Amino acid sequence: MSALPVTLSDIEAARDRIAGRVRRTPMVRDEALTARLGHPVLLKCEYRQATGAFKLRGATNALLTLPPERLARGVVTASTGNHGRAVAHAARELAVRAVVCLSRLVPQNKVAAIRDLGAEVRIVGASQDDAMLEVARAVAEEGMTEVPPFDDPAVVAGQGTLGLEIVEDCPEVASVLVPLSGGGLAGGIAVAVKALRPQARVIGVTMERGAAMHASLAAGRPVEVEELPSLADSLGGGIGLQNRVTFPLCRALLDGTVLLTEAEIAAGIRHLGRQGHTVEGAAAVGIAALLAGKVRADGPTVALLSGGNIALDLHARIMAGAEAVA
Ligand SMILES: *Cc1c(COP(=O)(O)O)cnc(C)c1O
Repeated sequence: MSALPVTLSDIEAARDRIAGRVRRTPMVRDEALTARLGHPVLLKCEYRQATGAFKLRGATNALLTLPPERLARGVVTASTGNHGRAVAHAARELAVRAVVCLSRLVPQNKVAAIRDLGAEVRIVGASQDDAMLEVARAVAEEGMTEVPPFDDPAVVAGQGTLGLEIVEDCPEVASVLVPLSGGGLAGGIAVAVKALRPQARVIGVTMERGAAMHASLAAGRPVEVEELPSLADSLGGGIGLQNRVTFPLCRALLDGTVLLTEAEIAAGIRHLGRQGHTVEGAAAVGIAALLAGKVRADGPTVALLSGGNIALDLHARIMAGAEAVA
């Protein structure tokens, strides 16, 4: 196997670097699924991370690896979701300037939420592409540093710290079910888990609608897919046609990918909601795959609950039986 872009020692270094700045989240047993499947099913409750999602790990590690002169010029992103939130939070904690570039189509409440996190908002153009151009301009002309959402070794190493915690809390783990989009999370976790417990399976789980990494793995190279609305909105978006880090990691290390319908994702949210875990669609996919019988438990199985940032009215509609976003 050719050398991979992130190693176990990168992840161990990330753990030491971010210690005290991110929460070590709890792992709890899903009693209902454990009884039903006859194997322990464990929930890694990362939706209880400070920003409501794991992306704080990667963003914090990325910022802490930058030299002071680059930190002094600030960091920039175009993400309005969990990554943008993580970058804003990590920057505020380190007293670093953060700029979030948005198109003018982003709703006012989202703009306010980003400002509340202490980030500077730049409204440019009428599309995500325009916002991305402003990021490139800030990098080229102002010397700011972009913190990429997934395709970056420091970001992946930060997310991989979850793999260390999973093996520490469940040394006999047989399978880890990881939500999959750009592959920073799954790639990082797979590096750690495969190094510490090679016999464990690491499976990427995502939605049928717009599964970019799944399509890319099938094609043998990064490809684009059409983006469609999904309950698992945090799993949308491509992997980047110039992908350097997460595609090679996922190709080398994942034991498989599983695709879910919207109804299956809704059932996962409901199952977790009934146990008091209020999670977003992206975070419910591992449990949804078990409930749907698309992954067979073959020993202790850990599902990563990656984030909890779901609108409460949407969550209430799903708990009441709704199955779709629109
Ligand atoms: C970003 C995100 C993911 C997917 O992470 P990738 O590194 O892009 O694969 C999963 N769940 C939540 C809640 C996220 O915010």
